[in-house]
Amino acid sequence: MEFSPDNAIVLTGLFGYPVVHSISPAIHNSAYSEAGLDWIYLAFSVKPEDLEAAFRGFTALGGRGLNITIPHKREVMLLLDEVSEEARLIGAVNTVLFQDGLSRGYNTDGPGFVRALREERDFTLEGKRVCLIGAGGAGRAVAVQSSLSGIARIDIADLDNDRAEELSDWINQEIRADLSGIFRVGSREGDEIIATADLVVDATPLGLHPDDPISFDPALLNPGALVMDLVYNPPETPLLAAARDLGIDTLNGLGMLIHQAALSWEIWTGDAAPIEVMKQSARSALYEAGIKSIESRRARS
Ligand code: NAP
Repeated sequence: MEFSPDNAIVLTGLFGYPVVHSISPAIHNSAYSEAGLDWIYLAFSVKPEDLEAAFRGFTALGGRGLNITIPHKREVMLLLDEVSEEARLIGAVNTVLFQDGLSRGYNTDGPGFVRALREERDFTLEGKRVCLIGAGGAGRAVAVQSSLSGIARIDIADLDNDRAEELSDWINQEIRADLSGIFRVGSREGDEIIATADLVVDATPLGLHPDDPISFDPALLNPGALVMDLVYNPPETPLLAAARDLGIDTLNGLGMLIHQAALSWEIWTGDAAPIEVMKQSARSALYEAGIKSIESRRARS
Protein backbone atom coordinates (compact mmCIF):
# COMPACT_ATOMS: atom_id res chain seq x y z
CA MET A 1 0.00 0.00 0.00
CA GLU A 2 1.34 3.45 -0.90
CA PHE A 3 0.63 6.79 0.72
CA SER A 4 -1.24 8.58 -2.02
CA PRO A 5 -4.33 7.18 -3.77
CA ASP A 6 -2.42 7.14 -7.07
CA ASN A 7 0.59 5.44 -5.46
CA ALA A 8 2.76 8.36 -6.55
CA ILE A 9 4.20 9.73 -3.33
CA VAL A 10 6.11 7.70 -0.74
CA LEU A 11 5.55 8.86 2.82
CA THR A 12 8.29 9.23 5.43
CA GLY A 13 8.30 11.32 8.57
CA LEU A 14 9.16 12.06 12.15
CA PHE A 15 7.26 11.20 15.32
CA GLY A 16 8.16 13.29 18.36
CA TYR A 17 6.65 15.63 20.91
CA PRO A 18 7.30 18.45 20.28
CA VAL A 19 8.60 18.53 16.68
CA VAL A 20 7.81 22.09 15.69
CA HIS A 21 11.47 23.19 15.58
CA SER A 22 12.78 20.09 13.80
CA ILE A 23 14.99 20.69 10.78
CA SER A 24 14.68 17.05 9.68
CA PRO A 25 11.92 17.79 7.09
CA ALA A 26 14.22 20.34 5.41
CA ILE A 27 17.15 17.89 5.41
CA HIS A 28 15.22 14.89 4.06
CA ASN A 29 13.01 16.70 1.54
CA SER A 30 16.01 18.47 -0.01
CA ALA A 31 17.70 15.07 -0.39
CA TYR A 32 14.59 13.57 -2.05
CA SER A 33 14.52 16.49 -4.51
CA GLU A 34 18.21 16.11 -5.26
CA ALA A 35 17.78 12.38 -5.89
CA GLY A 36 14.68 12.97 -8.07
CA LEU A 37 12.52 10.86 -5.73
CA ASP A 38 8.81 11.55 -5.42
CA TRP A 39 9.00 11.09 -1.64
CA ILE A 40 7.90 13.35 1.20
CA TYR A 41 8.99 13.75 4.84
CA LEU A 42 6.59 15.28 7.36
CA ALA A 43 6.99 16.06 11.06
CA PHE A 44 4.14 14.69 13.20
CA SER A 45 3.58 15.94 16.72
CA VAL A 46 2.52 12.76 18.55
CA LYS A 47 1.59 12.86 22.24
CA PRO A 48 2.93 9.93 24.28
CA GLU A 49 -0.58 8.52 24.81
CA ASP A 50 -1.19 8.59 21.02
CA LEU A 51 2.00 6.81 19.94
CA GLU A 52 0.45 3.41 19.26
CA ALA A 53 -2.54 4.83 17.33
CA ALA A 54 -0.26 7.11 15.27
CA PHE A 55 2.10 4.21 14.53
CA ARG A 56 -0.76 1.95 13.43
CA GLY A 57 -2.19 4.80 11.32
CA PHE A 58 1.14 5.45 9.63
CA THR A 59 1.44 1.72 8.88
CA ALA A 60 -2.11 1.64 7.45
CA LEU A 61 -1.29 4.60 5.20
CA GLY A 62 1.56 2.60 3.72
CA GLY A 63 4.34 4.82 5.07
CA ARG A 64 7.86 3.75 4.16
CA GLY A 65 9.97 5.11 7.00
CA LEU A 66 9.91 6.97 10.28
CA ASN A 67 12.35 8.82 12.43
CA ILE A 68 11.51 8.66 16.10
CA THR A 69 12.59 11.29 18.58
CA ILE A 70 11.98 12.29 22.19
CA PRO A 71 9.92 11.04 24.00
CA HIS A 72 9.17 7.92 21.92
CA LYS A 73 12.58 6.31 21.27
CA ARG A 74 12.19 3.53 23.83
CA GLU A 75 8.41 3.09 23.79
CA VAL A 76 8.27 2.57 20.01
CA MET A 77 10.36 -0.60 20.43
CA LEU A 78 7.28 -2.33 21.89
CA LEU A 79 5.40 -1.76 18.61
CA LEU A 80 8.04 -3.10 16.22
CA ASP A 81 8.25 -6.52 14.56
CA GLU A 82 12.07 -6.49 14.62
CA VAL A 83 14.84 -4.42 16.25
CA SER A 84 18.45 -4.27 15.00
CA GLU A 85 21.22 -5.45 17.31
CA GLU A 86 22.65 -1.90 17.55
CA ALA A 87 19.28 -0.44 18.56
CA ARG A 88 18.84 -3.21 21.12
CA LEU A 89 22.24 -2.46 22.63
CA ILE A 90 21.63 1.31 22.67
CA GLY A 91 18.15 0.65 24.04
CA ALA A 92 16.45 3.11 21.69
CA VAL A 93 15.14 3.27 18.12
CA ASN A 94 15.34 6.45 16.02
CA THR A 95 14.57 4.95 12.59
CA VAL A 96 11.85 2.55 11.42
CA LEU A 97 11.67 0.86 8.03
CA PHE A 98 8.32 -0.52 6.87
CA GLN A 99 8.95 -3.23 4.28
CA ASP A 100 7.28 -6.47 3.21
CA GLY A 101 4.58 -6.03 5.84
CA LEU A 102 7.10 -5.77 8.69
CA SER A 103 8.38 -2.86 10.79
CA ARG A 104 12.08 -2.94 11.66
CA GLY A 105 13.76 -0.53 14.11
CA TYR A 106 17.29 0.83 13.87
CA ASN A 107 19.40 3.35 15.74
CA THR A 108 21.42 5.68 13.49
CA ASP A 109 22.42 8.16 16.25
CA GLY A 110 25.43 6.07 17.33
CA PRO A 111 26.58 5.20 13.78
CA GLY A 112 25.94 8.87 12.80
CA PHE A 113 28.28 9.97 15.60
CA VAL A 114 31.03 7.60 14.38
CA ARG A 115 30.57 8.65 10.76
CA ALA A 116 30.65 12.35 11.68
CA LEU A 117 33.99 11.88 13.49
CA ARG A 118 35.43 10.05 10.50
CA GLU A 119 34.02 12.24 7.73
CA GLU A 120 34.32 15.63 9.41
CA ARG A 121 37.61 15.17 11.34
CA ASP A 122 39.22 11.99 9.95
CA PHE A 123 39.02 10.67 13.53
CA THR A 124 38.72 6.92 14.15
CA LEU A 125 37.81 5.51 17.54
CA GLU A 126 39.99 2.38 17.54
CA GLY A 127 42.36 2.38 20.52
CA LYS A 128 41.19 5.81 21.77
CA ARG A 129 40.40 6.96 25.33
CA VAL A 130 36.97 8.58 25.37
CA CYS A 131 35.61 10.87 28.08
CA LEU A 132 31.83 11.38 28.03
CA ILE A 133 29.94 13.97 30.05
CA GLY A 134 26.18 13.41 30.04
CA ALA A 135 24.65 9.92 30.16
CA GLY A 136 21.14 10.71 28.83
CA GLY A 137 19.68 9.46 25.53
CA ALA A 138 22.35 10.93 23.23
CA GLY A 139 25.19 10.12 25.63
CA ARG A 140 24.03 6.51 25.75
CA ALA A 141 24.15 6.22 21.93
CA VAL A 142 27.66 7.74 21.94
CA ALA A 143 28.88 5.45 24.74
CA VAL A 144 27.50 2.22 23.29
CA GLN A 145 28.63 2.94 19.72
CA SER A 146 32.12 3.98 20.89
CA SER A 147 32.32 0.79 22.93
CA LEU A 148 31.41 -1.23 19.83
CA SER A 149 34.08 0.61 17.79
CA GLY A 150 37.28 -0.69 19.39
CA ILE A 151 38.04 2.10 21.89
CA ALA A 152 40.55 1.47 24.67
CA ARG A 153 38.43 3.01 27.42
CA ILE A 154 35.37 5.17 28.10
CA ASP A 155 34.86 7.15 31.32
CA ILE A 156 31.45 8.66 31.96
CA ALA A 157 30.20 11.48 34.20
CA ASP A 158 26.67 12.76 34.76
CA LEU A 159 25.05 15.08 37.28
CA ASP A 160 23.08 11.97 38.18
CA ASN A 161 25.89 9.63 39.26
CA ASP A 162 23.56 6.60 39.26
CA ARG A 163 22.74 7.22 35.58
CA ALA A 164 26.45 7.26 34.68
CA GLU A 165 27.04 4.13 36.75
CA GLU A 166 24.14 2.25 35.20
CA LEU A 167 25.45 2.98 31.68
CA SER A 168 29.05 2.15 32.57
CA ASP A 169 28.10 -1.13 34.29
CA TRP A 170 25.95 -2.08 31.34
CA ILE A 171 28.87 -1.55 28.90
CA ASN A 172 31.18 -3.63 31.09
CA GLN A 173 28.65 -6.45 31.25
CA GLU A 174 27.33 -6.45 27.68
CA ILE A 175 30.30 -5.27 25.59
CA ARG A 176 33.63 -5.79 27.38
CA ALA A 177 34.66 -6.10 31.03
CA ASP A 178 36.61 -3.09 32.41
CA LEU A 179 36.03 -1.01 29.26
CA SER A 180 34.21 1.71 31.18
CA GLY A 181 34.32 3.62 34.45
CA ILE A 182 32.63 6.64 35.99
CA PHE A 183 33.98 9.89 37.43
CA ARG A 184 32.79 13.12 38.98
CA VAL A 185 33.59 16.38 37.20
CA GLY A 186 35.87 18.47 39.45
CA SER A 187 37.39 15.48 41.30
CA ARG A 188 41.15 14.83 41.02
CA GLU A 189 40.40 11.56 39.22
CA GLY A 190 38.05 13.41 36.85
CA ASP A 191 40.74 16.01 36.03
CA GLU A 192 43.15 13.21 35.14
CA ILE A 193 40.56 11.48 32.94
CA ILE A 194 39.82 14.69 31.01
CA ALA A 195 43.54 15.47 30.65
CA THR A 196 44.37 12.06 29.15
CA ALA A 197 41.35 11.61 26.86
CA ASP A 198 41.78 11.56 23.08
CA LEU A 199 38.13 12.48 22.60
CA VAL A 200 35.97 14.46 25.02
CA VAL A 201 32.24 14.46 24.24
CA ASP A 202 29.81 16.82 25.93
CA ALA A 203 26.35 15.21 25.73
CA THR A 204 24.69 17.55 28.23
CA PRO A 205 22.19 20.25 27.22
CA LEU A 206 24.73 22.90 28.32
CA GLY A 207 25.65 25.23 25.47
CA LEU A 208 22.15 25.57 24.02
CA HIS A 209 22.11 29.08 25.56
CA PRO A 210 24.99 31.56 25.14
CA ASP A 211 25.40 32.22 28.87
CA ASP A 212 25.40 28.52 29.86
CA PRO A 213 28.33 27.46 32.04
CA ILE A 214 30.87 24.94 30.69
CA SER A 215 30.51 21.43 32.12
CA PHE A 216 34.27 21.15 33.00
CA ASP A 217 37.40 23.30 32.98
CA PRO A 218 38.68 23.36 29.34
CA ALA A 219 42.21 24.22 30.57
CA LEU A 220 42.45 20.54 31.59
CA LEU A 221 42.18 19.32 28.00
CA ASN A 222 45.00 17.47 26.30
CA PRO A 223 46.22 19.77 23.45
CA GLY A 224 46.00 16.82 21.02
CA ALA A 225 42.42 15.93 21.95
CA LEU A 226 39.29 16.40 19.86
CA VAL A 227 36.40 18.05 21.73
CA MET A 228 32.88 17.39 20.51
CA ASP A 229 29.76 19.11 21.75
CA LEU A 230 26.56 17.37 20.61
CA VAL A 231 24.77 20.73 20.54
CA TYR A 232 24.54 22.09 16.97
CA ASN A 233 22.53 25.26 17.52
CA PRO A 234 24.34 27.52 18.26
CA PRO A 235 27.17 26.19 16.08
CA GLU A 236 29.83 27.18 18.60
CA THR A 237 29.00 26.59 22.27
CA PRO A 238 30.99 28.21 25.12
CA LEU A 239 32.88 24.88 25.49
CA LEU A 240 33.87 24.78 21.81
CA ALA A 241 34.85 28.48 21.83
CA ALA A 242 37.06 27.94 24.90
CA ALA A 243 38.69 24.86 23.37
CA ARG A 244 39.28 26.69 20.09
CA ASP A 245 40.95 29.56 22.02
CA LEU A 246 43.32 26.95 23.46
CA GLY A 247 44.15 25.71 19.95
CA ILE A 248 42.26 22.43 20.47
CA ASP A 249 40.37 20.76 17.62
CA THR A 250 36.58 20.95 17.97
CA LEU A 251 33.44 19.54 16.37
CA ASN A 252 29.81 20.49 16.99
CA GLY A 253 26.78 18.19 16.78
CA LEU A 254 25.67 19.14 13.27
CA GLY A 255 27.77 16.41 11.65
CA MET A 256 26.15 13.78 13.90
CA LEU A 257 22.68 15.12 13.07
CA ILE A 258 23.36 15.07 9.32
CA HIS A 259 24.98 11.64 9.31
CA GLN A 260 22.23 10.04 11.40
CA ALA A 261 19.74 11.54 8.93
CA ALA A 262 21.79 10.26 5.98
CA LEU A 263 21.91 6.75 7.47
CA SER A 264 18.11 6.76 7.97
CA TRP A 265 17.69 7.99 4.39
CA GLU A 266 19.89 5.15 3.16
CA ILE A 267 17.89 2.55 5.14
CA TRP A 268 14.63 3.77 3.55
CA THR A 269 15.83 4.35 -0.03
CA GLY A 270 18.64 1.79 -0.34
CA ASP A 271 20.85 4.46 -1.96
CA ALA A 272 23.76 6.63 -0.79
CA ALA A 273 22.46 9.92 0.62
CA PRO A 274 23.39 13.26 -0.99
CA ILE A 275 25.30 14.50 2.06
CA GLU A 276 26.33 17.92 0.74
CA VAL A 277 22.73 18.87 -0.10
CA MET A 278 21.61 17.68 3.34
CA LYS A 279 24.29 19.81 5.00
CA GLN A 280 23.34 22.90 3.01
CA SER A 281 19.64 22.54 3.77
CA ALA A 282 20.36 21.96 7.48
CA ARG A 283 22.45 25.13 7.64
CA SER A 284 19.76 27.16 5.82
CA ALA A 285 17.02 25.78 8.08
CA LEU A 286 19.05 26.62 11.20
CA TYR A 287 19.74 30.11 9.84
CA GLU A 288 16.01 30.68 9.14
CA ALA A 289 15.10 29.33 12.60
CA GLY A 290 17.61 31.79 14.11
CA ILE A 291 16.08 34.72 12.21
CA LYS A 292 12.56 33.67 13.28
CA SER A 293 13.58 33.45 16.92
CA ILE A 294 15.21 36.93 16.79
CA GLU A 295 12.04 38.31 15.16
CA SER A 296 9.75 36.73 17.76
CA ARG A 297 11.95 38.03 20.62
CA ARG A 298 11.79 41.52 19.07
CA ALA A 299 7.99 41.27 18.68
CA ARG A 300 7.63 40.32 22.35
CA SER A 301 9.87 43.15 23.66
P1 NAP B 1 19.11 14.12 28.20
O1 NAP B 1 18.52 12.77 27.94
O2 NAP B 1 18.40 15.13 29.01
O3 NAP B 1 20.57 13.84 28.84
C1 NAP B 1 21.43 14.85 29.30
C2 NAP B 1 22.18 14.33 30.51
O4 NAP B 1 23.19 15.27 30.89
C3 NAP B 1 21.25 14.16 31.73
O5 NAP B 1 21.54 12.94 32.35
C4 NAP B 1 21.65 15.36 32.61
O6 NAP B 1 21.44 15.13 33.97
C5 NAP B 1 23.12 15.46 32.29
N1 NAP B 1 23.72 16.74 32.64
C6 NAP B 1 23.18 17.98 32.54
N2 NAP B 1 24.06 18.91 32.92
C7 NAP B 1 25.20 18.26 33.27
C8 NAP B 1 26.47 18.66 33.77
N3 NAP B 1 26.75 19.95 33.99
N4 NAP B 1 27.40 17.71 34.03
C9 NAP B 1 27.11 16.40 33.84
N5 NAP B 1 25.91 15.96 33.38
C10 NAP B 1 24.96 16.87 33.09
O7 NAP B 1 19.44 14.83 26.80
P2 NAP B 1 19.87 14.14 25.41
O8 NAP B 1 18.68 13.85 24.61
O9 NAP B 1 20.82 13.04 25.72
O10 NAP B 1 20.61 15.35 24.71
C11 NAP B 1 21.84 15.83 25.22
C12 NAP B 1 22.38 16.90 24.28
O11 NAP B 1 22.70 16.33 23.02
C13 NAP B 1 21.39 18.03 24.01
O12 NAP B 1 22.08 19.24 23.97
C14 NAP B 1 20.84 17.70 22.64
O13 NAP B 1 20.46 18.88 21.96
C15 NAP B 1 22.04 17.06 21.98
N6 NAP B 1 21.71 16.08 20.94
C16 NAP B 1 22.36 16.19 19.75
C17 NAP B 1 22.10 15.27 18.76
C18 NAP B 1 22.81 15.38 17.44
O14 NAP B 1 22.47 14.68 16.50
N7 NAP B 1 23.80 16.23 17.34
C19 NAP B 1 21.21 14.21 18.97
C20 NAP B 1 20.56 14.14 20.21
C21 NAP B 1 20.83 15.07 21.19
P3 NAP B 1 20.06 15.66 34.62
O15 NAP B 1 18.94 14.96 33.91
O16 NAP B 1 20.21 15.25 36.05
O17 NAP B 1 20.02 17.14 34.40
